[in-house]
Amino acid sequence: MNRDIDELKTEVFDILVIGGGFHGLTMALEASKKGYKVGIIDKDDFGKRASANSLKIVHGGLRYLQQLDIKRIRESIKSRKYFQQNFPDLIKIIPFIIPTKWNFTNNKIALFFATVLYEFLSMDKNFGIISEKYLPKGRVISKNRFRKILSENSNSNAGGGMLWYEAVADTDSIIKNMVNSIKNNNSAMGANIEAKKLIIEDKKVAGVEVFDVKTNSYFRINAKSIVNTCGIWEKDILSSINESQNGKSSLTKAINLIINKNYFNDYAIGFDSVIKIYEKENLIKNKNRMFFVVPWKGNSMLGTFYFHYDGDRDNINVTDAEIDLILNEINSSNQIFKIQKKDIVSHHCDLLFEDISIYQNSGQSYPRKKTKIINHSKTDKIEGLYSVNSVKFTNAPEVTKKILTEIRDNL
Ligand SMILES: Cc1cc2nc3c(=O)[nH]c(=O)nc-3n(C[C@H](O)[C@H](O)[C@H](O)COP(=O)(O)OP(=O)(O)OC[C@H]3O[C@@H](n4cnc5c(N)ncnc54)[C@H](O)[C@@H]3O)c2cc1C
Repeated sequence: MNRDIDELKTEVFDILVIGGGFHGLTMALEASKKGYKVGIIDKDDFGKRASANSLKIVHGGLRYLQQLDIKRIRESIKSRKYFQQNFPDLIKIIPFIIPTKWNFTNNKIALFFATVLYEFLSMDKNFGIISEKYLPKGRVISKNRFRKILSENSNSNAGGGMLWYEAVADTDSIIKNMVNSIKNNNSAMGANIEAKKLIIEDKKVAGVEVFDVKTNSYFRINAKSIVNTCGIWEKDILSSINESQNGKSSLTKAINLIINKNYFNDYAIGFDSVIKIYEKENLIKNKNRMFFVVPWKGNSMLGTFYFHYDGDRDNINVTDAEIDLILNEINSSNQIFKIQKKDIVSHHCDLLFEDISIYQNSGQSYPRKKTKIINHSKTDKIEGLYSVNSVKFTNAPEVTKKILTEIRDNL
């Protein structure tokens, strides 16, 4: 376990990162590469929460075409490139397919233009990437081709499919790799160190009071700037500077199942679930939730499925009732699936920020889509403090770049 307690007690860090998931680790790694004196703490071990439980897709932002959100598409492409360049051996390029539909936005012609537009927006996606990790061009495929990939047993009535490529990451290995690099870059790490209270002097961040879970003791860490990457606990530490931050965020419990069968060889395929959600920013507002079947080490990861969550954030589990609902959702989506409980190898489960508007409008739980970076000099008049409201591990590199630019200008 990485615990540089003496250093954490005595150093004055340029940057102290609170929360060692993907966002915190990327921040600590990139800041330490730039020569900053960096400390990073986590109340648990590093990378054990949401970051350890994802569907492992490094999203290239294709889905943001629905909202024509070019800025987010470009950010996703850049973030994906970070993973392609820094961890080429730990990502796999996989073809993804979603079925075409008989509606305004997902028919064959609309999806053809979507692939053309996406290819244009991601023209630079292979610049600086080793050839084995190139992302080939996306395209629309015929009904027959799609049926062949799906299997003869499918009852899909799609007229074809849209095929594009994404990187799927071995996130566990990337996390280990990041932790080792941060250690080698002379940074101080504190597993099982929980941030309790920010220390503010003259409207500027000066450090944080922490609790050492292992030794049951408190101490102070000094820092010139602090980045709060506590994931869904992000507000807890902020309540010490702003009482309005008290109270929990609305949360969704996100679950993937690992099934003991590789359904579509090397292809990942999206299926419409029977559950409908209402997304006010989309052209088609009422739409079926979608889940993906992603090949993973001889098995398949199926997800992601969501449930509104009000319980204890530190102790979450998947209930039998949830498994039943998920299996029903999967098995009723296509007759290919006849999954029973005994076919489940394991699951990934963790909490994410919930999109309150979707929950209120459709009664269905769904995660928020926009990452927010908060510079507290603008919101609370406190210099040197930044918080990240994360939605995807994919975004961590671009979030890091933005915060490091602000820190550089202010240190
Ligand atoms: C089932 C599922 C599927 C997903 N699929 C994808 C996907 O395919 N692609 C994608 O990009 N994203 C996906 N996500 C989302 C992604 O996993 C998360 O958005 C991302 O990992 C969040 O990273 P984070 O660093 O912000 O948070 P976390 O990984 O949760 O890290 C926060 C850390 O802060 C620590 N912490 C909290 N409070 C304190 C404190 N007071 N002091 C010290 N430490 C503290 C916690 O212990 C934790 O380690 C998925 C998530 C789930 C659950």
